[in-house]
Amino acid sequence: MFIEAKKISKVYGSGENQVVALEEADLKLEPGDFVSIMGPSGSGKSTLLHLLSGLDRPTSGSLFYDGQDIYGFSDKALSAFRRRRIGFVFQQFNLLPVLTARENILMPLLLDKRQGEEAYLEQLAERLGIGDRLNHLPHELSGGQQQRVAIARALIAGPDVIFADEPTGNLDSRSGGEVMKLLEDICREMGKTLVVITHDSRVAQLANRIFTMTDGKLA
Ligand code: ADP
Ligand code: MG
Repeated sequence: MFIEAKKISKVYGSGENQVVALEEADLKLEPGDFVSIMGPSGSGKSTLLHLLSGLDRPTSGSLFYDGQDIYGFSDKALSAFRRRRIGFVFQQFNLLPVLTARENILMPLLLDKRQGEEAYLEQLAERLGIGDRLNHLPHELSGGQQQRVAIARALIAGPDVIFADEPTGNLDSRSGGEVMKLLEDICREMGKTLVVITHDSRVAQLANRIFTMTDGKLA
């Protein structure tokens, strides 16, 4: 999947309260790319990731996935496109607390009325080191395990690209390091594009390309 953002901008509010969260960002991603994005808090990193992943729509600009402008899709079509082609990993894990790890992982498929492929789920869980935790609820898991569940959920539908917004931000440095290594290795093995926001320069250095955000500008 080739992804190209052209001059995407996001402005929140109006008048005195107007915030230009992202200013005309251009970005091209090739299949298998590994890109990291750094920058101070409030510089627009999450805004950029939400726009690149179709979780949000820009004030202006276009986003092409293999030449298709996905902001041209209806909300319903965009949601379906996201469920099938894009995985997202959040800093806060965002697991549903009443569902087991297994149910959380399968959620993107259920939303798409697709059958869970048990063998693939088992394989992913083993690879992520959570094979024996699948029947537990999120609160019965450590932070690192919860984030591994979230990574499995991001991968279950076989997306082309994974976006991760400070995936190690809620983890201690050891378990954060392990989670990041797994995410990176799995994306390389599976040939998936990976875009990671991080404050950790060691994580950023692993990427093929490092971008920096400052005051809504991507460089
Ligand atoms: P980062 O992820 O780099 O910390 P964000 O993308 O979350 O930065 O935020 C960029 C700027 O946009 C900040 O000034 C933030 O306050 C503002 N912002 C983000 N989301 C909203 C929103 N929903 N409404 C208004 N302002 C927002
Ligand atoms: Mg953020």
